[in-house]
Amino acid sequence: MKRLIEGYRQFRRTGWPRERALYAELAKGQAPEYLIISCCDSRADPALIFSARPGELFVLRNVANIVPPFEQGGGYHGTSSAIAFAILQLKVSTVVVMGHAKCGGIAAALDREVVAPMPFLSEWISLLEPAVARCAQDGGDRHTEVEREGVRLSLERLMSFPFIAERVSQGVLRLEGARFGIADGQLEWLDKETGLFKPVH
Ligand SMILES: [Zn+2]
Repeated sequence: MKRLIEGYRQFRRTGWPRERALYAELAKGQAPEYLIISCCDSRADPALIFSARPGELFVLRNVANIVPPFEQGGGYHGTSSAIAFAILQLKVSTVVVMGHAKCGGIAAALDREVVAPMPFLSEWISLLEPAVARCAQDGGDRHTEVEREGVRLSLERLMSFPFIAERVSQGVLRLEGARFGIADGQLEWLDKETGLFKPVH
């Protein structure tokens, strides 16, 4: 708690005065251009990685940056409701699904025992099963491959949302994929032509 209050005080001394005019403008309304869908992991913070200022990124974080399939009725659609708001109300022009190295959610997808003692997680992680299945033959770094495949799968699922598919086909919405390396700070970006992730230089 003390750490947070100290951090806030530092923000009031430095960050707040620096961005005061921007915050005044943003108080009238937000108009972020980007929806970033990333993991809850404390080491992969989109605002830090993209050097974002307040108001620039609409960030949706969940365990393993998973987009569930489009479905109506039943349940509390936390992830899908944030996606709908970003697309339909804020009218973001780009959605980026960003995975990351050493993802615990991916580790759980590869070994479900990891999440067995915890509520909710096993069902959530089961959404990654198609990504795990597609990497079944990989003899290399399977964990990393599933991290990348999870991003591809989330991008595919975004296209199952009718209002997203419609905007993508109209050319008013772009869907992008990325993965952050943590240990080396390297971001890799999904090349949609080759389907491969390439380091950003
Ligand atoms: Zn993660």
